[in-house]
Amino acid sequence: MQDTIVALATPTGRSGIGVIRLSGDNSLDIVRKLVRDEVFNPKPRFAHLKSVLDIETAQVLDEVIITYFKSPHSFTGEDVLEIACHGSPIVLRQIIDFCLKLDARMAEAGEFSLRALANGRMNLSQAEAIRDLIDAQSIASARQSIRQLRGELSNQLQPLKDELLNVIVVLESSLEFVEDDLPDFQAENIKKKLSELAENISKMASTFQAGRLLREGLKIALVGRPNVGKSSLFNALLGHERAIVTDIAGTTRDQLHEKLVIENIPVSLIDTAGLRETVDTVESIGVERSKRAMADADMVIVIFDASQNLTDEDREILEQASGLQHLIVVNKTDITSSFKFEVPESEFIKTSAKTGEGLDLLQKAIIEPFHPQSTDQSGFLVSDARHYDLLLRVKNEIENSVTLLEQRMSEEIVLIGLHNAIRFFGQITGETTTEDVLTRIFSTFCIGK
Ligand code: GDP
Repeated sequence: MQDTIVALATPTGRSGIGVIRLSGDNSLDIVRKLVRDEVFNPKPRFAHLKSVLDIETAQVLDEVIITYFKSPHSFTGEDVLEIACHGSPIVLRQIIDFCLKLDARMAEAGEFSLRALANGRMNLSQAEAIRDLIDAQSIASARQSIRQLRGELSNQLQPLKDELLNVIVVLESSLEFVEDDLPDFQAENIKKKLSELAENISKMASTFQAGRLLREGLKIALVGRPNVGKSSLFNALLGHERAIVTDIAGTTRDQLHEKLVIENIPVSLIDTAGLRETVDTVESIGVERSKRAMADADMVIVIFDASQNLTDEDREILEQASGLQHLIVVNKTDITSSFKFEVPESEFIKTSAKTGEGLDLLQKAIIEPFHPQSTDQSGFLVSDARHYDLLLRVKNEIENSVTLLEQRMSEEIVLIGLHNAIRFFGQITGETTTEDVLTRIFSTFCIGK
């Protein structure tokens, strides 16, 4: 018997409604005790209005709506009960505490999804899609996750896997029944099939660059010496999409991170002016502290002040950025447009954080090197590094097998790699994934999922 797990399925904090979710054989018993109704027999998938009572004092704690999802027709495949309470953190905490006293156990991160996987309610790539959907930072990324959740990745993999299995069957049976080597025409045929297969897998894997861009987005650092207008540009860029700007939880006090979305691509901006404010001596910082932010970024935007000549510090910052993906921005062009820099004009973008001039160009230039056009395509994109890695492994194994066939190696040797390829395929959807890999993957889920 699986133990019964409980967790808050909605975010912590005050809200209109907070949902507590229970999964496991004892879920219904626990809920009966919470509502002090031993014969409570909720009709599956119907909403039931009940009162939850203090299990010790019998005082009413909250009026709740209970929904019962009877095994196996539930998210996890087990008996699941959802208690929709008023979103008071105190009440929610107390009800969860009572569940724990009634022998439920606090769910681990992703444990509901893990159980869904264990009970065959979904495969691994679908469970990962739920996580990605919850974490999605743009509409396009959410849409990709839904496609994966609806099985698109597995559906695309299945014919490739079938094809590979067919080849394996031919090779295996020739091992069993054919005394000599494979006839030439058959060996040629198999080589051709395998090469096509490797090609198709490679095509699928090649969507990863765009998929990752949609999912993870870009980290962009704004650097420059004090007063060139980093904070102003930062705010001006955010101003365009202020409605979808969110603070990132967990950013350290001295890092100013904000998010915006440019053409569906989530962009995380790091204002290195924010790094400066916590340091006492202003001298070394411009260079030293922005160096760290630069190393971490996908692109560095070096900002100069149009109203002043370049200083040694400007040059040093540019020098630091020169080995990295970078853009040069000359800001404050509203003050003067007749500046002279040693950098040719074609290599920088002119902006004014004050008037907004050049901001559109800057936005385009930020995403341009990352080939955003490939994220527009309506096709399914591989967006998970784990899937990408496994697809490459499958491709390599198949290509090696083709080489071995060309070297006229025995079927037995060729088959080793092909069996590995099947195993890697299986790891994408979770059929052949080991326990520790699963634990690692599900630890990236949130509690209550
Ligand atoms: P940071 O130290 O690089 O972050 O620079 P700030 O954003 O704090 O800007 C320094 C000063 O320059 C402030 O007084 C801003 O109002 C001003 N400033 C920033 N951008 C512009 C601009 O495009 N035009 C003008 N005229 N002033 C600007």
